[in-house]
Amino acid sequence: MAKEVNVLIIDEDAALAAQLDNTLKAVGYHTWVVTNPKEGINLLHSSAFSVVITEMRSAKMNGAQVIQAVHKISEQTNVIVITPYSFISSAIEAMEAGAYGYITKPLNSSEVRIVIERAVERYFLLYGNEEKEFLVDLAVRDGLTGLFNRRYFNELITVEVNHLKRSPAALSLLMLDIDNFKNYNDSQGHPAGDVLLKDAAKVFKNSVRPSDLVCRYGGEEFMIILPQTNKMAAKIVAERLRVQVGLYLPTTVSIGIAGIPEDAQEISVLIEKADNALYQAKKTGKNKWCAA
Ligand code: GH3
Ligand code: MG
Ligand code: MG
Repeated sequence: MAKEVNVLIIDEDAALAAQLDNTLKAVGYHTWVVTNPKEGINLLHSSAFSVVITEMRSAKMNGAQVIQAVHKISEQTNVIVITPYSFISSAIEAMEAGAYGYITKPLNSSEVRIVIERAVERYFLLYGNEEKEFLVDLAVRDGLTGLFNRRYFNELITVEVNHLKRSPAALSLLMLDIDNFKNYNDSQGHPAGDVLLKDAAKVFKNSVRPSDLVCRYGGEEFMIILPQTNKMAAKIVAERLRVQVGLYLPTTVSIGIAGIPEDAQEISVLIEKADNALYQAKKTGKNKWCAA
């Protein structure tokens, strides 16, 4: 059974709070909404919260004060501040004050989900829970591996590519496919194949940064989004993944690499280029990576 994940929303703006509440409830979080920051802070004494969401500009208590008060009671709770899109300097101010992240107004529900999901993940990664009971939402998670699923991959990549449009930088995509997996299933049995997929997911997650997004795209196909990563760096990551798989798993993997801006500007083209590169890797011997 999934563990309950508490998220506290502190906002005087009832409409905005309700919007956040709906978005997060839909994902499966247990949300608490208060309008008064003091009331919110008091709740921390009685319940454990993974995340607190608060306004940076608030009449009663500003974001920096809320962050301080939260961390005084519960050091491990991640605070996310809400800032107006046009006022990014307040986001920087919040980060300096110890916020874990920020979301911009007007709210974008995908962005909200991703930012909160990461904060929750960090909370549980840092504070125990090896078995990842915090995987609250099977709608965004693959049931077998616990990785983000294909539908969520599509949301994640849209948000990440939109970020690029705001502040130009690089992004790379790795498409991975287990080699000769059909043979493995046939010789070892389907349950053993499932175990291999789960182990592969662990190896992938442990071989990349926490900010990289590992998704199960299909049967034995995976996608890894590498934000802020140029193609050169992506090749190094791909080689590391290839080697780690060889070391820890009874199989090998082939990887296709494509990057923005070098290979594509659009997501569909990026995926297509990564897919083609993967096909090249398969065609030219497997257990290797090819770049678009
Ligand atoms: P290649 O090296 O060219 O990638 O060959 P392959 O055998 O890995 O690829 P192919 O596409 O022929 O076979 C993929 C196999 O993956 C077939 C399918 O039964 C198996 N598969 C897909 N999803 C699962 C799953 O969830 N569990 C298990 N055990 N097997 C799965
Ligand atoms: Mg395949
Ligand atoms: Mg395969």
